[in-house]
Amino acid sequence: MKTVITTCTRDCPGACSIVASAENGKVTKLQGNPQHDITAGFLCKNTSHYLENYFYNDKRILHPLLKVDGNWERISWDEALDIAAFKISQVINQYGSSSILYYQGFGARTALQVMNRRFFNLLGGVTTTYGTVCGGIGHTAMEADFGAKLSHDPLDHLHSNHIIVWGRNPAVTDIHLWRILRKVQRKGTPITVIDPVKTKTARLADIYIQPKAGYDYYLAMALAKIILKLDNPQNNYVDHDFIENSTLYFDSYQQILDKYSLDILSHKCGVEVDVIRKLAVSYAEGDPSSIIMGWGLHRYQQGHLNFRMVDALAAITGNIGVSGGGVSQGFEEYAYFDFSVELEELGENQRKIPMPTIGDALLYPPTTD
Ligand code: SF4
Repeated sequence: MKTVITTCTRDCPGACSIVASAENGKVTKLQGNPQHDITAGFLCKNTSHYLENYFYNDKRILHPLLKVDGNWERISWDEALDIAAFKISQVINQYGSSSILYYQGFGARTALQVMNRRFFNLLGGVTTTYGTVCGGIGHTAMEADFGAKLSHDPLDHLHSNHIIVWGRNPAVTDIHLWRILRKVQRKGTPITVIDPVKTKTARLADIYIQPKAGYDYYLAMALAKIILKLDNPQNNYVDHDFIENSTLYFDSYQQILDKYSLDILSHKCGVEVDVIRKLAVSYAEGDPSSIIMGWGLHRYQQGHLNFRMVDALAAITGNIGVSGGGVSQGFEEYAYFDFSVELEELGENQRKIPMPTIGDALLYPPTTD
């Protein structure tokens, strides 16, 4: 029997390390890598049963199929490749390569996605999308605030003295992060969950706060307002050095906060002032405190404000750039991918349209008169 160390490629923040066993040319078992600090020897049940449910499942499509008169007919790989190559060449010759739309999904996160882009660049560049319909607004907000969207290593939360899980349900959706958070919690670090939905994670939290959906930024502003007010030389709730040396526009930020009374902010986010005050003190006293954001906060027209106000909260309390602190949002760091293999420079006819408005972009293309 042979074993191979590989990585789970599902669109999941776990990025588990897998020990795959193989015998007689067949994968026989997938197990979590016990040597990996985060995977810690176990996989979620989806991937534990991946072989029987997907990989070797009878229903898996293993051959190319061609629709002929409304029915699917099996064809060979050579035939399928010839048909695809002929159609692509025909369209390019007639309309140019930018008339091909390449719309890439995220079912699996693998280096092969980079190779897909290489293929289309080698064709001369096609029409493709930029941005996303899910995480993009949060990424852009964090890039505006920090210059880059970088999350803390999940194990770094072991150094946190207070953890806020904001709009995320790792007890169900990120079991390895949840294992780490439970470990911290057992050591006495409080976990606060902020979520309009009372999830499993919320039920297991030390503090649960249920704001109105989409109005989280008012809650972040209220927390900041209280912390700025309670700050004094004894408690050091506010990191004045960090504000002075590492932030811009603090006065403008303060003016925004000054526009709203605490009662108004409380009313807008739907959380009682006393509850907000308790959380503000606990977060400020964490030193360091970390915030782990989910993917629900993005899905509002004002979604960027949810991130920007949370980022500002972490900044004024000196929780940026310190172990055990930070604002983490997903784990989509691509540092290890060599994107030069995409050959972007060859895609001279490439056009990019925004993914969230792809329908309008296709129906009403810009005129060139
Ligand atoms: S938790 Fe499951 S889906 Fe997520 S990376 Fe690990 S094995 Fe893959």
